[in-house]
Amino acid sequence: MDFTLSPQAEEYRNKVRAFVDAEIIPLEAVRASYDDHGNIAEGPLEAVRAKARAAGLWAPQMPPARGGLGLDVMGRAVFYEEANRSIFGPVCFNCSAPDDGNMTVLEKVGTDKQKEEFLQPIVDGKVRSAFVMTEPHPGAGSDPTMMLTTAKRQGDKWVVHGRKWFSTGADGAAHYILVAKTSDDPRKGLTAFLFHKDQPGWRVVRRIPIMGPEEHGGHCELEFDGLEIPDANRLMEIGDGLKVTQIRLGTARLTHCMRWLGLAKRSLEIASAYISEREGFGIKLAERESVQLLLGDAAKEIHIGRLLVMNAAWKLDQGDFARKEVSIAKVHVADTLHKAVDTAIQLCGARGYSQDTVLEWMYRYARQARLVDGASEVHKMVLARYYLKEGSDFWSWGA
Ligand SMILES: Cc1cc2nc3c(=O)[nH]c(=O)nc-3n(C[C@H](O)[C@H](O)[C@H](O)COP(=O)(O)OP(=O)(O)OC[C@H]3O[C@@H](n4cnc5c(N)ncnc54)[C@H](O)[C@@H]3O)c2cc1C
Repeated sequence: MDFTLSPQAEEYRNKVRAFVDAEIIPLEAVRASYDDHGNIAEGPLEAVRAKARAAGLWAPQMPPARGGLGLDVMGRAVFYEEANRSIFGPVCFNCSAPDDGNMTVLEKVGTDKQKEEFLQPIVDGKVRSAFVMTEPHPGAGSDPTMMLTTAKRQGDKWVVHGRKWFSTGADGAAHYILVAKTSDDPRKGLTAFLFHKDQPGWRVVRRIPIMGPEEHGGHCELEFDGLEIPDANRLMEIGDGLKVTQIRLGTARLTHCMRWLGLAKRSLEIASAYISEREGFGIKLAERESVQLLLGDAAKEIHIGRLLVMNAAWKLDQGDFARKEVSIAKVHVADTLHKAVDTAIQLCGARGYSQDTVLEWMYRYARQARLVDGASEVHKMVLARYYLKEGSDFWSWGA
């Protein structure tokens, strides 16, 4: 393992940090910056996005030929953590979910024509995208083999019927990646497709109300009633739907962790400022050992999370799928985000529970981390399976 940062990654760390401080964090305190779902409103977003592009901080995950920065996964870990020091950060740099994961997988597996048509407009910030896989009961959730949405071949096109839900960003997106059942083969029964919002045969049934602030476009329930997709818009081979999903999630799960670490760090910044000023029983709160234990424990968990993310990022950069490392990081960082924000709220007293800081926003948001991109229990099940299969090799450092 070599976690040495390239000079380029270090430069972006400083630039993103300065940009977030100057251009994004001030927006958090202005009510007019928020849309109806607790995210940055379109007007302020477009203004900051223009500044981010001008500052050379646009689409860090995409190659320069597409207008991105071409950062490797370790470089992204540094960039994304700084970007999400603000609750509005990642979308301002075009590295928020779900576009981030969708762009990454399309760049990896799309044909040249698919990339030109479906990927480039997302990179350019002209359209948003959604990844459409999970279904309501009794369909596919943690277990993708339960998929009920079908795509049936008719000549050179596929006809889709079924129901999906929790498609993040689906309301108002233009480009969609859909995973549907194309055969009963238990391992090769799913296939991934691309479709455009203007194609007939599908609709957004509802934007599902949730407990936390929402990504742009919300989390939607979709109905497919005869959507026709040309075979040319199939991703990879017939039966490769799970492969496409794994390729997408391998990096997308980790980039979620990178962003969550930024939020966790910010929550401690807010708490530190408060306890460094606030006094009780004759001393500053920050001087009290029991307060230091809370802060130190949360800081320790965040740093463990950073090391886990870097380890997985380094492996991904070596061409490894890093399945164990990504699962371990995902479980740990999801818990850490919740713990850090909870600690920060506690240390800020009543102010922490108010809307005078972004802590309550983060707290409501944090609860999704243990569900999205695979429930923590499922990741632990996967880890147990690896352990039972590999025995002592489970602990190998790997090259
Ligand atoms: C905010 C948010 C955004 C999302 N965005 C998207 C998206 O963009 N696209 C998309 O397709 N999906 C999305 N999802 C769906 C997400 O991927 C699923 O919620 C997740 O895979 C779990 O599936 P499920 O909700 O059907 O839970 P279920 O499969 O019904 O499981 C329920 C619970 O049972 C337990 N459980 C299940 N299986 C096991 C097991 N093997 N071992 C132990 N315990 C188990 C877990 O505690 C789990 O939380 C999103 C979800 C959320 C909350």
